[in-house]
Amino acid sequence: MKGPQRYDVVVVGAGFAGSLVAKALGERGWRVLVLEAGAGTRDAWQDHQDAVRAFHTAVVKTPTAPYRTTAAAPSPDVLDLTGGRDGFQAHGYLLQRGALPYASPYLRVNGGSGNAWTGLALRMHPEDFRAGEFGHGRNWPIGYADLEPYYRLAEGEIGVAADVEEQRRAVGLPFPEDYVFPMHGLPRSYLDAVLAEAVDGNHARDPYQGQPTELSVVGTPQARNGPPNPAYDHGRGYRPDGHRCAGYASCVPICPEQAKYTPMKTQARWPATVTLRTRAVVNRLRATSTGRISEICYQLYRDDTGGEHTSHTVEADMVVLAAHAIENAKLLLVSGLATRSDQVGRNLMDHPALLTWGLTREPIGPYRGPGSTSGIEGFRFGPARRRRAPFRVEIGNWGWNWALGPPDRDVADLLRQNVFGKRLRQVLADRIGRRFMLQFEIEQEADPANRVTLAPDHRDRLGNPRPALHYRLSDHVKRGMVAAKQVSDQLFALLDAEDHTEYRPVASMPGYLEFEGQSFCYWGAGHGGGTHIMGGSPHDSVVNQWQQCWDHPNLYAVGCGSMPSLGTSNPSLTMAALALRSAEHLDRELLATRTCVTVAKEALR
Ligand SMILES: Cc1cc2nc3c(=O)[nH]c(=O)nc-3n(C[C@H](O)[C@H](O)[C@H](O)COP(=O)(O)OP(=O)(O)OC[C@H]3O[C@@H](n4cnc5c(N)ncnc54)[C@H](O)[C@@H]3O)c2cc1C
Ligand code: SF4
Repeated sequence: MKGPQRYDVVVVGAGFAGSLVAKALGERGWRVLVLEAGAGTRDAWQDHQDAVRAFHTAVVKTPTAPYRTTAAAPSPDVLDLTGGRDGFQAHGYLLQRGALPYASPYLRVNGGSGNAWTGLALRMHPEDFRAGEFGHGRNWPIGYADLEPYYRLAEGEIGVAADVEEQRRAVGLPFPEDYVFPMHGLPRSYLDAVLAEAVDGNHARDPYQGQPTELSVVGTPQARNGPPNPAYDHGRGYRPDGHRCAGYASCVPICPEQAKYTPMKTQARWPATVTLRTRAVVNRLRATSTGRISEICYQLYRDDTGGEHTSHTVEADMVVLAAHAIENAKLLLVSGLATRSDQVGRNLMDHPALLTWGLTREPIGPYRGPGSTSGIEGFRFGPARRRRAPFRVEIGNWGWNWALGPPDRDVADLLRQNVFGKRLRQVLADRIGRRFMLQFEIEQEADPANRVTLAPDHRDRLGNPRPALHYRLSDHVKRGMVAAKQVSDQLFALLDAEDHTEYRPVASMPGYLEFEGQSFCYWGAGHGGGTHIMGGSPHDSVVNQWQQCWDHPNLYAVGCGSMPSLGTSNPSLTMAALALRSAEHLDRELLATRTCVTVAKEALR
């Protein structure tokens, strides 16, 4: 009788982290099977064209709008939540059982959430790895120096455009002396330049910081194509994949030019040793009595809407969970694995984003580039993080889109008021052309009460339990909001801008909250992490510094779920660096056990 197929490595999830690990191991000659829950193919161009068409015709252009999700592998959407006077309501895939909503979507299609991401690719600050020393959150078992070589690898793989001198000087990041990014930094938007003119060299007071902070507008590293740097890689230069960023301003949810990095670019570079199986939902892992994972069970479906499927198993020497922070935790919980520390699913974090919006005196021409090309970095580090959560200021290029919706709403409003033709164009240009937004991404510390559990009485179409979330924000985070709003007020004053920010308990603001007599609202940044937290001991963490489960030596859980703190930078570059570091460890472990079933390794070495 024919037994289950056997691979060197099975990777669960062909998203951001899974695609990188599969490539790194496939290139080392290991036979890798990638099981991907979502639909899609490796014909990246055809899938991309379909997605661009779907985006053009979508009535509501949410981050997930271009992508064909299925009932067999559902995922959360920003429209699942509504707010109101009696609190928030959740209608979608995630069951929300906490005091506040977890407000971020993710995407279960081939390529994962990295299809729809904004593409901001920042390194964490060295201090972020020691969040616990500031009394809020946890320390990493590794530091910036351990990850630095892998940051460089990830920046090469993803294709990052940035200015190394500016990152050294203004953010305080250490780089090797001769390092340059693959591509030169993208030019500033006109808004960035106007803001820099108004604020550079001035100071802002933060109620939790003794000294005022000096303001400086700093370019943000971008995972999108800028001018290649001929000095990259010791003068060998860099060849970008796709066109140069042309400023379409639709990066979330899709870049028509393919200037933005997506995991489909990594998949296009997979060697023949990597096999992708889509519409394959992994629903359980089985372990032997010694803790080794012996079987990966998955459900193959053909029908997107019904629950019809066939069940399969596959075996592997090494298993890598790369299904997203929430789905990784769900799979570990369903399988009853990694239970020793009681930390699976706990410490769910995001970057709660406080948005403020206004009008400049003169037009600043929003919607002419990526979501954000610059930020203000001075509130990310320093002793004030003992008293309030640190935050990063992202200068938003897309008007009031994130907080209040796209400009189509203005068109609809004006048409309802019988404004047409030239007058319509004039009013729109005046309204939209002066809009800007500041986005304060606030660090949320690891809190074991914020957690993913299973809802066995709520199942998806394939019969798998849906995730239930318990989410809240600490007073430390809320003090970060207080400080962020005060800094915003000072930036608006320096810019001589009208502040139109208003937080209200209405349907479009499910993250509305009150703190110390003030109203706030937060939005989800899509940066879910912490749910299989990394640490130095099997008693208080799920994975070790290699993202290897303490309890299961041949099981790795990769992704932001491993991160003990998120700092204030968008987390995917750090996640990518960690994934590449883990791939090296996996390679060493595979070589040590030398039970690989393939001869390809010898052939390729
Ligand atoms: C709107 C938006 C904007 C963002 N912008 C940024 C940004 O600018 N910078 C940044 O750093 N980060 C950003 N992020 C976050 C970034 O997208 C995530 O950090 C990253 O995609 C997570 O990678 P992952 O591989 O862990 O998960 P994903 O990319 O979500 O991939 C997981 C994959 O696993 C598959 N899968 C799930 N369950 C199963 C299963 N049971 N069996 C098999 N396969 C499964 C999924 O279909 C998916 O393909 C953004 C996110 C969003 C939503
Ligand atoms: S601004 Fe336009 S071209 Fe540039 S990455 Fe975004 S969508 Fe692509």
